Amino acid sequence: MKVSENSVVVIDYKLTDNDGEVIDSSEGAGPLAYLHGMGNIITGLEEALLGKEAGDEVKASIEPAKAYGERQEDMKQEVPRDLFSGIDNIELGMQFQSETEQGPVMVTVVAVEEEMVTVDGNHPLAGVHLNFDVTIREVREASEEELAHGHVHGEGGHQH
Ligand code: ZN
Repeated sequence: MKVSENSVVVIDYKLTDNDGEVIDSSEGAGPLAYLHGMGNIITGLEEALLGKEAGDEVKASIEPAKAYGERQEDMKQEVPRDLFSGIDNIELGMQFQSETEQGPVMVTVVAVEEEMVTVDGNHPLAGVHLNFDVTIREVREASEEELAHGHVHGEGGHQH
């Protein structure tokens, strides 16, 4: 069976950036199961896996526009340190949920000064070119329930 709209695809993967640094991998965590065509994974990877089948090895080099988007400098902002009252030690890399007009956004601390803290609302992988090494382990039809929920159930998917 080939990967197509609404199929359940189980993959092993390794994700590296252009410097060869491993960003993420299914090694240790176990294979990932996703529902094809539902936006469970980034667009560029769905495009690369379409039409493939179990046993195929797929290498995909994905530009930011089809991954986590380009970095937007205006999503960085300086906020007064007072806003973080209750947190003794603000450190680089800490993440907070921030309420915006567009809803909650995850922001990352990128600079800390005496009075001000700079936070960045970009996804940590925004602007990063992603290189996937994927092995497809299984392709199967999704169940009615999986289609209704928009995700895979069981091993490698949602456990509920
Ligand atoms: Zn579900």
